[in-house]
Amino acid sequence: MIENKRPYLTVRRLAAIPGLVHGFGDAGWSEADFLAFAVSRDMRPAVMRQVHSETVHRLDAAPASKLEGDALMTNVPGLLLVIRTADCLPVFLVDAKNRAVAVVHCGWRGTEKRILEKAAQAMGRAYGSGPADMLAALGPCIGAACYEVGPEVRKGFLRAGFPAAVVPDYPARPGKSLLDLRAANRYLLEQQGLKKENILDAGPECTHCEPSLLSYRRDPADPRRMYNFIGLAPF
Ligand SMILES: [Zn+2]
Repeated sequence: MIENKRPYLTVRRLAAIPGLVHGFGDAGWSEADFLAFAVSRDMRPAVMRQVHSETVHRLDAAPASKLEGDALMTNVPGLLLVIRTADCLPVFLVDAKNRAVAVVHCGWRGTEKRILEKAAQAMGRAYGSGPADMLAALGPCIGAACYEVGPEVRKGFLRAGFPAAVVPDYPARPGKSLLDLRAANRYLLEQQGLKKENILDAGPECTHCEPSLLSYRRDPADPRRMYNFIGLAPF
């Protein structure tokens, strides 16, 4: 399913859609590299101040100033929607029929607020995107085995309606749980009505275990973030 085309990962089913530009960047791909890539494609990048919210922005043009929020969607060619990550899960939503895309920042806070569900619903309202026509690509994130959380996080997820399987007990650390971000977000997509076979996993299992990716939990002092982007080519 995955093509490893350095310095970013692409998903074969998305790469097959004409005019779609996308990738999950790795640790070796700097902000300057990303900006040069955008210029080379004649596309305007849209980078947000990410605040672990449930805010979804619809873009019809490049924003004049930096937006605050955690999801972007558009059906306008020439915009490159960006989510920066180091352990959080970046997700692309694609409606090839109506030519609309979204990028969503799914950390534990945003996931608990069900931001991915909100983004899929927002695409439905904005572009008429039906779940049966949507593809979702889940990028690299911290794996469940490396993602210890406290009891308050577990409670929050259960309260928000997630199945207990996404926050299993951590046997090695009594009282602690593990959070499976990928499973939690997959659950939201399946609840929305996306077909299982249209929910695609990209890249290595775990940012924390994979040295070519950035991990906040592994290197909290490292300010770098990976650039994950999707958009419709201008021509
Ligand atoms: Zn790991």
